Amino acid sequence: MIYIQRSIFPKPPLLLCLPQQRLLVIILLRPSPLSTPSRTPLIPLANLINKIIILIEKLQKLKKMGMHSQDTAELIFEDCRVPRRNLLGEEGKGFRYLMENLQQERLVVCIGSVVIAEKMLDVTLEYARSREAFGQSISGFQHNSFKLVELATEIEIGRTFLESLIEDHIQGRDITRRVSMGKWWLAEMANRVAYHCLQIHGGYGYMEEYLICRLYRDVRPQTIVGGSTEIMKRILARMMKL
Ligand SMILES: Cc1cc2nc3c(=O)[nH]c(=O)nc-3n(C[C@H](O)[C@H](O)[C@H](O)COP(=O)(O)OP(=O)(O)OC[C@H]3O[C@@H](n4cnc5c(N)ncnc54)[C@H](O)[C@@H]3O)c2cc1C
Repeated sequence: MIYIQRSIFPKPPLLLCLPQQRLLVIILLRPSPLSTPSRTPLIPLANLINKIIILIEKLQKLKKMGMHSQDTAELIFEDCRVPRRNLLGEEGKGFRYLMENLQQERLVVCIGSVVIAEKMLDVTLEYARSREAFGQSISGFQHNSFKLVELATEIEIGRTFLESLIEDHIQGRDITRRVSMGKWWLAEMANRVAYHCLQIHGGYGYMEEYLICRLYRDVRPQTIVGGSTEIMKRILARMMKL
């Protein structure tokens, strides 16, 4: 039997995107509160982390800024007991198992960032061409047209990089370095696109009636989930021996 006490977790809550009704959750944990954190968390922590399945009985749906179609719950473990038979794989190798899928998860975030950026640009181009002010389409104002060209260029360059990443991944090449670059840059790029696309919509961009309003909210966590921008830069700095 493994006992989990809330005090083991230095800063609850743990946020998870999952349907509220789903009761099966896979977590990583250190079995002992006395276990010391690793100084180099990217190296597997032998005998410190187990991968277990735990049944969560009660989840509370959180109110989020965006992504409302996706439930997010706060998981709190208090004096929780997990049968040893629920241990997945070999004890002590949980972090290694996690790392095996982490690059693919980051690639998925890269794909999401490019796709949402493309969608935001599409709806903005359509809006800018049709909206008239001072007797002309607002897309014809030099600032707006230059801005739209800049956004289109960034997205195009982003997609080219993304596609080379996908190809490398399919070929089984190690994408750790490049996917870390893509994860932070594409997520930040998509957020820049969101800012400028909403600005071009003017006041209507702030209204739920216009899709850009929802996309602006939904794109925000791309720089946080799956490893934040700062964590990606830490990984890359370490790889560059900085
Ligand atoms: C909508 C949503 C869905 C999520 N879904 C999932 C999920 O399905 N599965 C899952 O496992 N997690 C999920 N998460 C959690 C998400 O992965 C974490 O929020 C993310 O890893 C950041 O961790 P944190 O929130 O604890 O921030 P913190 O670690 O508290 O970081 C706060 C700030 O400090 C910065 N920071 C932290 N450490 C360092 C450092 N060493 N150097 C420099 N800067 C640093 C961060 O970049 C960030 O800007 C989800 C989060 C959200 C918002």
